[in-house]
Amino acid sequence: MTNGTMMQFFHWYYPADGTLWDHAKDKAKELAGWGITALWLPPATKGKDGAKSSGYDAYDLYDLGEFHQKGSVRTKYGTKEGYTAALRALQENRITVYADVVLNHKAGADEKEKVSAIRVNPDNRNELIEPVEIEAYTKFTFPGRKGKYSSFVWDWHCFSGVDCAADVNEAGIYKLRNEYGQGWQDVVGSEFGNFDYLMFADVEFRNPAVREELKRWGEWFFKAAPFGGIRLDAVKHMSPDFVVEWLDHMRTLKADLYAVGEYWAPEDLPVMLKYIEATEGRIALFDAPLHNNFFQAANKGKDYDLTCILKNCLLESNPQLAATLVDNHDTQPLQALETPVGTWFKPLAYALILLREAGYPCVFYPDIYGAHYVGKGKDGRDQEVWLEQCPHLEQLLTARKQYAYGRQRDYLDAPNCIGWTREGTGEHPGSGCAVVLSNGDEAKKKMELGTANAGKTFFDLLGVRKDEVTLDPDGWGDFPVDAGSVSVWVIS
Ligand code: CA
Repeated sequence: MTNGTMMQFFHWYYPADGTLWDHAKDKAKELAGWGITALWLPPATKGKDGAKSSGYDAYDLYDLGEFHQKGSVRTKYGTKEGYTAALRALQENRITVYADVVLNHKAGADEKEKVSAIRVNPDNRNELIEPVEIEAYTKFTFPGRKGKYSSFVWDWHCFSGVDCAADVNEAGIYKLRNEYGQGWQDVVGSEFGNFDYLMFADVEFRNPAVREELKRWGEWFFKAAPFGGIRLDAVKHMSPDFVVEWLDHMRTLKADLYAVGEYWAPEDLPVMLKYIEATEGRIALFDAPLHNNFFQAANKGKDYDLTCILKNCLLESNPQLAATLVDNHDTQPLQALETPVGTWFKPLAYALILLREAGYPCVFYPDIYGAHYVGKGKDGRDQEVWLEQCPHLEQLLTARKQYAYGRQRDYLDAPNCIGWTREGTGEHPGSGCAVVLSNGDEAKKKMELGTANAGKTFFDLLGVRKDEVTLDPDGWGDFPVDAGSVSVWVIS
């Protein structure tokens, strides 16, 4: 088996020019060459602002850029034809696609409705303030689609809450009084008392008609665009029971459907583990705590204790369900949750996710292709951002594809210099590697690759070090690394 590598093929500020699907198609061969085996593409479904929407503001799940709705046929990324063509091109290059699915909320309703609601305290949503009669954006009829694929009409019975009383134009958080309960839906965490409500019109999964419609939609989507996996948005805000029911249904269509959820809790590993328990291990999660370790390590420089870099994260507690990453579209500069990992540390972080046995790594688009964009800063003013490509990332991907196999020996034992080795396997001739990281001075690490590798000579695949290392008769070598750097030693 070749090591699998996922890539997030977009970032938040990717231009809204309808070219992303074509871009993915054009890059399929190149990505396969680097060892990318799965591509996470952003939502293919129409958002509330049509061609300007990122897709996380889901309007019509059945509109993959096919109907003239919200001002355009295409989405930010292209048309339905473009999406399915990209899927085919990627599959021809043995790259599977993970579709981004947004089920927690709907946005851009076609009509308002008069509803009974309870205004709640936004900081403690379990605290009911007062009953109110309001108008809410809760009716979705999709006039542009005219009932094609599904005639389901969403109304206030299908939602648990909204954040705007449309008649008086008053922002707040309003729990809708429907027949499925006075309170919010049960979710795993307890931020804001209950964090069922995230944004827009929040979907009421206790309504059986909603569950059935979303399962029907999943089936339709899979047939329209046969993907290999799912990235499920905002699972923190969704009832885990529904996620279980929905994934079980999807796996009747494709038994090995991969699923990874966005449960962003960089400083709360226990709640993520609780979520995995609630969903009985059906869904992997992005390892937000590991990203947080990388962010801290990059900021603290030599004062960070590298022996802790893999501690207190999903990779340590449940490696089978850890989707590891360095950065993503929420951590990139100018985003609300921005915590970008400093450039100097990125190659070290990528070595940690790409070259070790455990975890399923996800590479972020700008780290391969770079990015240049303008967005609003915290002061509300436009700011220009250049994201550099991550140095050595292509070589690190090659190392994952060709060398990072076999028994792992760890030397995560000094605050400023850690390393590990992979012994290699017969299945991948010439494989095996020794990885050494420093966040302080130039250093050396004595590490073993087994007697099978005794006497072999190694060079730094990244080209940072120009020297060579020859293993002694017992299979040990003294592997150097530059200050604040990483070297990946492979057999020459
Ligand atoms: Ca919700």
